[in-house]
Amino acid sequence: MSEAEALELDAGDPGHRELFDVPPAQGGDYPEVAYFAGNSLGLRPRATRTELLEDLDAWAALGVEGHLDAARPWLPYHELLTGPAARLVGALPSETVVMNSLTVNLHLLMVSFYRPTRSRHRIVIEDSAFPSDSYAVRSQARFHGYDAEDAIIRLRPRPGEDCLRTADVVEQLGGDVALVLLGGVNYLTGELMDIPTITAAGHAAGAVVGWDLAHAAGNVPLSLHDWDVDFAAWCSYKYLNSGPGALAGAFVHERHLGGDVPRFEGWWSTEAATRFEMRPESRPPVSADAWQVSNPPIFSMSPVRTSLEIFDKIGIGVLRERSVRLTSYLAGLLSALPLRVITPSDPARRGAQLSLRIEGLKAGELASRLRFEYGVIADAREPDVLRLAPVPLYSTYHDCWRAATALAEAVPAS
Ligand SMILES: *Cc1c(COP(=O)(O)O)cnc(C)c1O
Repeated sequence: MSEAEALELDAGDPGHRELFDVPPAQGGDYPEVAYFAGNSLGLRPRATRTELLEDLDAWAALGVEGHLDAARPWLPYHELLTGPAARLVGALPSETVVMNSLTVNLHLLMVSFYRPTRSRHRIVIEDSAFPSDSYAVRSQARFHGYDAEDAIIRLRPRPGEDCLRTADVVEQLGGDVALVLLGGVNYLTGELMDIPTITAAGHAAGAVVGWDLAHAAGNVPLSLHDWDVDFAAWCSYKYLNSGPGALAGAFVHERHLGGDVPRFEGWWSTEAATRFEMRPESRPPVSADAWQVSNPPIFSMSPVRTSLEIFDKIGIGVLRERSVRLTSYLAGLLSALPLRVITPSDPARRGAQLSLRIEGLKAGELASRLRFEYGVIADAREPDVLRLAPVPLYSTYHDCWRAATALAEAVPAS
């Protein structure tokens, strides 16, 4: 692996790094970090600061009149996010809303779509689900009066394997399953699940199928509407570059809109046209907006709007193509090192992330060495997993080369 070769690849396949602020390195030979933690917190688009300040200054200039008179009026502000978010996940605008945070959205959607009965009350998740999802489904089961140990089915890979096989997942979807709630891309292994096949199998078993797209949105192309997914939610601070704790997205399939599924409501659940008539009963719109509860935080929506505009302009299909090239290049460099990549090697079964199982030292210590000695930012999941995500918007082949050469020095040969 040569540095010149990496630089040449960058010249031919440059990405969009110029749209982002890349932090300075705290060690190593280069001024900027090689950033591989975009699956944890994406970098800040340069336009975010300017556009957020514009929205903030409208408040100073207009006070309450900003609801209607701001350049981007606050009252319908959330609608500016709906179209770009819908296109990103392959949904109709009426099926999509940006609101709250991810786990809150999962709860609001489970209020509607986890309707257990004695004979059908189980929830299927991955054993390696992100803890928040595990806590959420366990607390939902308890809320409905079930024992979480009994109600939650945790899918485990076969002995000696790191990822789930689609056929094994399908086989576990029995007649007692009320809800299947899996990660579209697993946060730990980086495995991209076969969303359409598992969704269809869940439906065939009589279950509702929801997806946590925290690691999938902005990473891989999605077709939630065509795949007939019942509901989904995702956060915006990972691949969607909208800042720490940024607002999340939610999807509800068209066939569930406007019906009588139970929902928790507030004044933003009612249709906009008559909201200010201040009636005691709501008139929910026939859209995912009906799942909103409160009036949205404009200064939190602003960075999501700026970021979604970038995805909308470039297109997730184009980004995915560069992502496959970039991640394959990194995978090739890593294959020469004494490391085990636990992410599937088939590009169709993974997104941008490669997870490595480290032996001989702790993942946290390795991440810290990479940061301070090489200026490479990776993410450690204790005890032994290191995650690297080359992000097609701003990561470079040279970043990948830096990560691989740093790992070659920092990881003891076994
Ligand atoms: C990042 C992540 C979360 C975080 O939840 P928040 O509610 O946004 O704090 C939840 N689930 C998964 C799968 C994640 O990757």
